[in-house]
Amino acid sequence: MGLRDAKQYIESLRDGREVYIHGERVDDITKHPSIRKAINHGAIDYELDKKPELRDLLVTHSPTTGNEIRRYFELPHSPEDLLRRQKLIETTTQHGSAIILFMKEIGTDALNALNMMTYLMDKKNGTNYSERVAKYREYVEENDLSMSGAVTDVKGDRSLRPSEQEMPYYYLKVVERRNDGIVVRGCKVHTTSAPITNELIVIPTRAMTEADNDYCISFAIPVNTKGITIISRPERGDLNWFDYPVSSGHVTLEAMTIFEDVFVPKERIFMDGEWEFCGALANCFATWHRFTGISYKTPFADVLIGAAQLIADYNGVLGVSHLRDRITDLVIYVETIKTFGKTAALGCIMTENGIAYPNPLYCNIGKYFFANNYHASIKALQEVAGGLVITGPTEADYKNPATREFIERYLGGRKGASAVNRLKVMKLIRDLTATEFAGEWFVGTVHGEGSLQAQRLSIYRDYDVKNCVNYVKDLLKIED
Ligand SMILES: Cc1cc2nc3c(=O)[nH]c(=O)nc-3n(C[C@H](O)[C@H](O)[C@H](O)COP(=O)(O)OP(=O)(O)OC[C@H]3O[C@@H](n4cnc5c(N)ncnc54)[C@H](O)[C@@H]3O)c2cc1C
Repeated sequence: MGLRDAKQYIESLRDGREVYIHGERVDDITKHPSIRKAINHGAIDYELDKKPELRDLLVTHSPTTGNEIRRYFELPHSPEDLLRRQKLIETTTQHGSAIILFMKEIGTDALNALNMMTYLMDKKNGTNYSERVAKYREYVEENDLSMSGAVTDVKGDRSLRPSEQEMPYYYLKVVERRNDGIVVRGCKVHTTSAPITNELIVIPTRAMTEADNDYCISFAIPVNTKGITIISRPERGDLNWFDYPVSSGHVTLEAMTIFEDVFVPKERIFMDGEWEFCGALANCFATWHRFTGISYKTPFADVLIGAAQLIADYNGVLGVSHLRDRITDLVIYVETIKTFGKTAALGCIMTENGIAYPNPLYCNIGKYFFANNYHASIKALQEVAGGLVITGPTEADYKNPATREFIERYLGGRKGASAVNRLKVMKLIRDLTATEFAGEWFVGTVHGEGSLQAQRLSIYRDYDVKNCVNYVKDLLKIED
């Protein structure tokens, strides 16, 4: 099929999928204002390749068919490939007003992890999963499909394993095995872009035991498959650009993704019962996804710096030391994330089947650093900006002649800083730090790509603590 454009992508979503939002079934999601906002955001991904200066970064050729494909599908084979993937994510995010587009990022994170893990499964068990993954990869590449990664299960009682739960479908479960495929039941949550992508790639969310065999399942399936119901998180489609310069046009939609006896054909199954590999697959996906996380977060952090600097300038306090310190803190914040991203690429691990795997330790520390310091960074920007961020008048007040005069007379800043420009920056800061959208980002930053504790566990596991102990023993001349 070749590269699609935005129109073709949007048209492909009129496929009978079962999507609910705000308690309503939506027949044509492209016509629903809130969902359409997210669709338009995702559609940016299908138009950027038309910019000549971005073409080389965004488009490459399939290693199997030689056809043009989006570079998102490129399986990294070297540190340079990983650095380019990072640049790709950063650049496309910049064009989405610093909000990641999430059309192919999570899907290819899942595919890359599957390429690594199915190779190991096949090697150990003689299965042919890697062939299926390769065929599926070629299919999504050639048709330029968008994909979500459905990983997180609802999980019920978090202290219990899947097979120990009172309700047997708190983790996605195989309920029937047939010659031509399997039938699954359960529900994944927080699935980013599920209402507006073409395909769902499902992988297990955790390590499993033999008793959890029926939960050890990975596959890919079109979103409009019979039995799949999507309940989108709420979103507002009627926000104006002036007051909400980012969230009026740029949001991602997360959703509950329900599988009610869904049939998955055999050729789309990438794992079925290999419980020993579940933990490794979940961790491997998490590393790829955290690499994506640290890549897409830097444009957002750059916006925080730009907004802080601009409002300090408009307010006439650019040279004030404590405010400059806050901006410096923001620079340290973004540069630390960038450094971990680069180090994860340069320090990648080459797998036996030739894949450049981002260094898990640096991916986890980078993601942890970003999430753990996010609230402090937002606070720094709020401190620089002042209270007008939340108390200032709206676009409607600015348009009303009765109030516009007062706004222009009283809300100017330093000489040359007009009231309207000051207000514009204040509104941006409000959108990023004090709206419903901003609040969602607080939660999203803590839990997206896995909770903080998930990163701490990985960091401890991957660091050579034993080496440090030996060093201390050497220092103290301890022999035991
Ligand atoms: C905006 C956003 C986008 C997301 N996108 C996706 C996506 O596209 N696809 C996808 O699959 N997932 C996605 N996620 C899911 C994300 O990975 C999870 O939110 C995260 O892993 C935490 O899981 P949870 O939300 O179920 O919280 P919980 O698992 O309930 O965790 C809450 C807290 O309890 C702790 N905890 C949980 N279980 C245990 C235990 N057994 N022992 C000790 N501590 C425990 C956790 O560490 C955490 O601190 C997204 C999440 C968000 C917020």
